[in-house]
Amino acid sequence: MNLRLLVPMLAAALLAAPGVHAAGPLNVVTTTEDLAAIAREVGGDRVKVEALSRGYQDPHFVEAKPSFVLKLNRADLLIAVGRELEIGWLPPLVTQSRNSRIQPGANGYLDASLTARILEIPTGQITRAMGDVHPQGNPHYWLDPGNGRRVAQAIAQKLSTLRRDDAAFFAQREADFAGRLAAAEKRWDALMAPYKGTRVVTYHRSWPNFAERFGLNVIGYVEPRPGIPPSPSHTLDLIQEMKRQNVKLILVEPYFDLKTPNAVARETGARVVVLLPSVGGEKGVEDYIKLFDYDIDTLVSAIKETGAR
Ligand SMILES: [Zn+2]
Repeated sequence: MNLRLLVPMLAAALLAAPGVHAAGPLNVVTTTEDLAAIAREVGGDRVKVEALSRGYQDPHFVEAKPSFVLKLNRADLLIAVGRELEIGWLPPLVTQSRNSRIQPGANGYLDASLTARILEIPTGQITRAMGDVHPQGNPHYWLDPGNGRRVAQAIAQKLSTLRRDDAAFFAQREADFAGRLAAAEKRWDALMAPYKGTRVVTYHRSWPNFAERFGLNVIGYVEPRPGIPPSPSHTLDLIQEMKRQNVKLILVEPYFDLKTPNAVARETGARVVVLLPSVGGEKGVEDYIKLFDYDIDTLVSAIKETGAR
């Protein structure tokens, strides 16, 4: 057969591949509610999106349920945060799903971190044996809206490879989301502008991207290392440093015990503020833009009330 005939025949065969013209919405499963929210922005009614974990859960340590395997079994696309955020619970579920479409490396698997701006990438050797749950850089990158925009682009591209006929639809929705996000960022920047450089302590290292984007200065953590519970000696060091730098705010994710943060607050005169790292962390925080609306409103109120700087 001559090559001039073969090429168009191959192209036609590829276009007719299963999935490309399949009817009904694509089944998208995400590991977190943040990724689900962005996938819904991009996919609209051409996708059915389900998140495995809830926004009020610690995404490092999610309790696997049998229903997760069923959801994964039916998925056309699995979107994960990556950077080993889900390594403690997701890999066996993906294997048990017996769904070849969503295995890592397959076309129905998207690691959303691949195009994101990742901070705190270790330079020395870091192993999980040290208890550090961030061995490949900080996985909480979605807390910078710039990364939300990058993730939306990656999802639009991925959905377009799975449903070529809908590529323009996904591109249009992605552009619309990016536009609304840019308008919201102007609002958030205006609210945060007077408070650039405000010193805070956070429980876990969930906020480096958020802090970089909105100008917070994180001077310490309640955890001695990411994933390691507070220890008395670390807590004493933290109290000293907070007194030295006159830190007024301790930002805590909703899934951590407040005992140590409250004790540190009593010693230092700081205030404990529960800030949400994820969509779904509170009632009403049901999309990506509302997540930042909530966090920035909460933060600005706390800064004003405590006089933090
Ligand atoms: Zn973490």
